[in-house]
Amino acid sequence: MTHRLKQYIGGEWVSSTSDQYTPVINPATCDVLAECPVGSLEDVDLAVKAAVAAFDEWRSTPILSRAQYMYRYKQVLEDRFEDLARIVVEENGKTRDEARGEVRRGIESVDFAIGVPTIARGYKVEDISSGIDETAERQPLGVFSAITPFNFPMMVPLWFLPTAIVLGNTFVLKPSPQTPLSSELLCELLDELDLPEGVVNMVHGGKDVSTAVMTHPDMVGVSFVGSTPVAKIVYETAAKHGKRVQAQGGAKNYIVVMPDADLGGSGRNIMGSAYGCAGQRCLAGSVVVAVGDSYAPLRDELVRQASALRVGYGLNESTQMGTVISASARERIERMISEGVAEGAQPVLDGRSRQVEGFENGSFVGPTILDGVTPQMSVARDEIFGPVLSIMRAADFDEAVQMVNSSRYGNAASIFTSSGRHAREFKYRINAGNIGINVGVAAATASFPFGGKKDSFFGDLHGQGP
Ligand code: NAD
Repeated sequence: MTHRLKQYIGGEWVSSTSDQYTPVINPATCDVLAECPVGSLEDVDLAVKAAVAAFDEWRSTPILSRAQYMYRYKQVLEDRFEDLARIVVEENGKTRDEARGEVRRGIESVDFAIGVPTIARGYKVEDISSGIDETAERQPLGVFSAITPFNFPMMVPLWFLPTAIVLGNTFVLKPSPQTPLSSELLCELLDELDLPEGVVNMVHGGKDVSTAVMTHPDMVGVSFVGSTPVAKIVYETAAKHGKRVQAQGGAKNYIVVMPDADLGGSGRNIMGSAYGCAGQRCLAGSVVVAVGDSYAPLRDELVRQASALRVGYGLNESTQMGTVISASARERIERMISEGVAEGAQPVLDGRSRQVEGFENGSFVGPTILDGVTPQMSVARDEIFGPVLSIMRAADFDEAVQMVNSSRYGNAASIFTSSGRHAREFKYRINAGNIGINVGVAAATASFPFGGKKDSFFGDLHGQGP
């Protein structure tokens, strides 16, 4: 019988009070890996109550003891590193190396949380007034939650959970119903550490469960990562209910290539950016702006490198690009490519209807390059979230900056150049949160905040970092 996932509440694995389930599907093999509960308001209430019940004792547990759980967590995550990566491949479809990279980044957030006691200090001023000293202390606030997306099912929960609990808060995780198995294993491994009951809880479900989590009267705050339309809803709904909220949304990331850039190196970086995780990264390069004479050689180089990428099942070590998350995602991506072509883009590399031998029903989309894209086209404006790269042309640096800044998104942008002046100007003038200079994926490491501006981020306190 198919494995039916349970909710993790108060240190116990309990069946959902809802009897409805959705399948968790391996997008390459189409095997049903498990069934995920749709969840219920009652499940959420039980989870939040368990987190509330655990709070007082957890809060008064010394911070160094709380951090010790993360030392041990790091060790079990290292011990199970390959199992963790395998689950990501199976439920998400990315390659094994990409999954390993994801797990490594997740563990780095645990490393960061281990060091949190050194930055959890308050501050004090003596004689702020005559004979009066003033002190500000950082205190845990209560129950926090994270609502997470399918594309980094192991890493994104670890952006939030370790720091929240080392700081003395308790926690409710609501993972994506498309990729809940990674979170299940994360909770199983926490459970092995004998973390006090209720410090970490997990409820499965979709929109209704998310809403119940972020609006629960005893919930203090929510960290959300997902698409822009949902990030907006979460930001508004949580704020209306008086919660602290940080909501990281979708993206449309531009990469500017100057005529003085190293062609081969830029091409390799752009491959990793556009086609890594089959383009399902919020930091994925989606539009290349070729400046001046860089255009023709760059286009040829990109087509050459992208054509050579080996598409296949992520568990095969030789695969360089895996599947997208689902059949419906494949349909959406292919539809968006077709819309771009109808609007006048030229598919110089077309990944539609891609078949992979042995995985004929898998959700594969081959690397795609659309040339002749203009800023008005939907493929230049909207997030595709698939392995599709659009090429636009700019006469000079100023026009390229204008194109990048015309996007409603502001998650990331990169420039490839050997000019220090253009590198500095780009960083200064581009209105995006994560800036790469000769770097295709400008990912913040655990000790830095994950930037994001405009429609890519709603809130004031960014995820990760202090
Ligand atoms: P999604 O918005 O569909 O879902 C994210 C989470 O929200 C899931 O847990 C889902 O169950 C829940 N949810 C869905 N609809 C909801 C609603 N109406 N109300 C409340 N909760 C709801 O996103 P996804 O498809 O899982 O992930 C892909 C998206 O995430 C892309 O747009 C990508 O750019 C973005 N993303 C952003 C970042 C970042 O840091 N900015 C990182 C990773 C992914």
